[in-house]
Amino acid sequence: MSLPIDDNGHANNIVLGSPVLEDGRYTVPFTVPDKLKPFFRSEEFWFECPDAGEVPESIAVVPAVANLLPFAWVFGCELRVRAIDKSFYDAVPEIRRGYDDMVVDLSLSGTFSADEIIDNSYSNEGGSPLSLFSGGVDAWCTLARHSSEKPHLVTVWGADVDCGNESGWKVVDEHSSSVAMDYGLDYSYVRSNFRDMIAYRALDTSSLMVACDYRWWYNLQHGIAIIGLAAPLAYACKAPRIYIASSNTEMDKPYVCASDPTIDNRFAVAGCRAFHDGYELTRQGKVDAIVRYARGSACKVSLRVCYHVQSGRNCCRCEKCARTILEILAGGGSPGDYGFDYKPWQFDILMWRMEHVFRLVYPEFYYDIAAAVKKRGITLPRSAHWVLSDDLASICDNGFKRGWGSFHDFGAGLYHGARDLIAGRAH
Ligand SMILES: [Zn+2]
Repeated sequence: MSLPIDDNGHANNIVLGSPVLEDGRYTVPFTVPDKLKPFFRSEEFWFECPDAGEVPESIAVVPAVANLLPFAWVFGCELRVRAIDKSFYDAVPEIRRGYDDMVVDLSLSGTFSADEIIDNSYSNEGGSPLSLFSGGVDAWCTLARHSSEKPHLVTVWGADVDCGNESGWKVVDEHSSSVAMDYGLDYSYVRSNFRDMIAYRALDTSSLMVACDYRWWYNLQHGIAIIGLAAPLAYACKAPRIYIASSNTEMDKPYVCASDPTIDNRFAVAGCRAFHDGYELTRQGKVDAIVRYARGSACKVSLRVCYHVQSGRNCCRCEKCARTILEILAGGGSPGDYGFDYKPWQFDILMWRMEHVFRLVYPEFYYDIAAAVKKRGITLPRSAHWVLSDDLASICDNGFKRGWGSFHDFGAGLYHGARDLIAGRAH
């Protein structure tokens, strides 16, 4: 058989080996063409999902394929695998169509081939759906909306907490399992090096990515990657659906995001389909749904939203914590009941930083908060009154804040550059 050859005369294949299960870890070795080698820190993909147990090869390989397909499409390679699940194989052209419509500044090519296509479908009447659960606003809203279906919560170790960060993961894992216990739900985790294996800095600064100004994780990887990681568990549990919570909404268009109804809803594996949930709701609408749900529940709703999430706790010092605190207040809730632990003076400092230092690059969140506060006659603490200003746009973003932000980014760039050099990650 002749190999596809690229312009430089090199073989142009991404070839996956068969998954090997050892000590609870599935490992999938793969090879990439020379031109892609700088973008990988490892040519071995692995995942662990103890609750999925042993699954057929054509299912066990799905997480690796889901994470490598965008490379084949963007860099025009042939992705080859020995055996693949039929539902997933049939879904790939549909997912690809979603990508074609989404990443319009790239022209995708590449192909996907398998020696063997295996039908693993099952009838799924009455099975619990899986619900990907990060603990944030989006995921909690999906849990609230589908609570009557008793969703099986799934948290991915290796997404926002590094797959090697045991202490950060412990906090996240305990959070997800305590939520599941409180609400009488099943909970499983999937651990994977699906981010750790990729050299994002090299990839995002490659000429192709710089030309379109995309970021690999956000614009090309995360939706299909995270849903793909849940596929072996979905098969093992005969789940009918995998819910993945939306973070964008129709009103945010135009945007370029790898997780979207036009992509996620086309994902299928065995007898299971993915569903991108909550897309019709704004973030304030989601917080409102969570506050309503919490009122009718005997258990606490502890949100995990923070940008500094490696510690697993809400810092109550960052923009995202601040925004969520304001959304809960605007929803008529008390942030202390939702996992935000702070003193009144800490809140005042945080609000001062929001008003004077942080660039609030998505002012629509704050317009929604202001509208909800005014409509419901909510009284905010004095230090938060800036959100009700008639000139909210220039509070969210202005020359001073931009100048401060560039200064801060410059320092952070030096820091990360030095850290990558020390860690030997720079390419
Ligand atoms: Zn925070």
